[in-house]
Amino acid sequence: MRALYLDKTLAVRENYPVPTPPPGEALVRVRLVGVCNTDLELVRGYMSFCGVPGHEFVGVVERCESAPEWVGQRVVGEINAACGQCETCRASRPTHCPHRTTLGIAGRDGAFADYLCLPVANLHLVPGSVPDQAAVFTEPLAAACEITQAVHIRPTDRVAVLGDGKLGLLCAQVLQLAGCNLLAIGRHEESLEILARRGIKTTLAKAPTPSEFDVVVEATGTPEGFAEARQLVRSRGTIVLKSTYHRAVDANLTRVVVDEVTLVGSRCGPFAPALRLMEQRLVEVTWLIQARYPLSDGLAAFERAGRRGTLKVLVEP
Ligand SMILES: [Zn+2]
Ligand SMILES: [Zn+2]
Repeated sequence: MRALYLDKTLAVRENYPVPTPPPGEALVRVRLVGVCNTDLELVRGYMSFCGVPGHEFVGVVERCESAPEWVGQRVVGEINAACGQCETCRASRPTHCPHRTTLGIAGRDGAFADYLCLPVANLHLVPGSVPDQAAVFTEPLAAACEITQAVHIRPTDRVAVLGDGKLGLLCAQVLQLAGCNLLAIGRHEESLEILARRGIKTTLAKAPTPSEFDVVVEATGTPEGFAEARQLVRSRGTIVLKSTYHRAVDANLTRVVVDEVTLVGSRCGPFAPALRLMEQRLVEVTWLIQARYPLSDGLAAFERAGRRGTLKVLVEP
């Protein structure tokens, strides 16, 4: 099969072996994959990953011996494959299983290929009314849903979303549903325009008013975002950190101590609510799509996705 393969550099492989699903796993034919910031960071050396990247996908189950009823179904998949046996898994925290593999990120080939394998337990059926080009956003939309899963957003809260990249735009749309006093802060007028069309207040990042927001979501994707979030949050407020990057953050944590700021790290989220939000058209994800490439042009897709201000780039096997 064809695959994008990362071994320090990214290359198109024409004869990569089709994976054989182990017991309990399904073979999925990939229909559409999204290029995520994490994929760009992997190419820069994040996680020292070697293999096929790609974790935002929609596909069709082609083979599944342990649960044949899945064959032919259109699916998306949770990306963490947990062991199911250890203490962490038994405490219902499978996304933190120390033995986990993560699709296209750690220990498991991902979706920039004709086929991938995932445990049946990770699969979610895509509702018929959600097209592929929306379903491919399930994973990042679930990550946005994880904010309200972890932090109580009160309707009276002043909430800022910092960053108008792909994830920031999804976070802002999810937070809008909480009815809070929301402001999206970004650097790209065209990207903020997407939120303005949804009725969300936006502003270009200038000199921000410090100590104003009850909750600040840091989704800039840059290590500098933390200091900006720190400027915006009130004392005893909460900063939700959504960015992952290869570089380290240079932060003054003394101010966090003095102002008693709560830091919440936030990663993968629940898939079922994300699919429901798209099915009920409570969020608009397809406006984020800016380009579509065939898998054979995967390198061009990564190049395009890496340009400043680019939103979602999709790859089609
Ligand atoms: Zn991602
Ligand atoms: Zn486990």
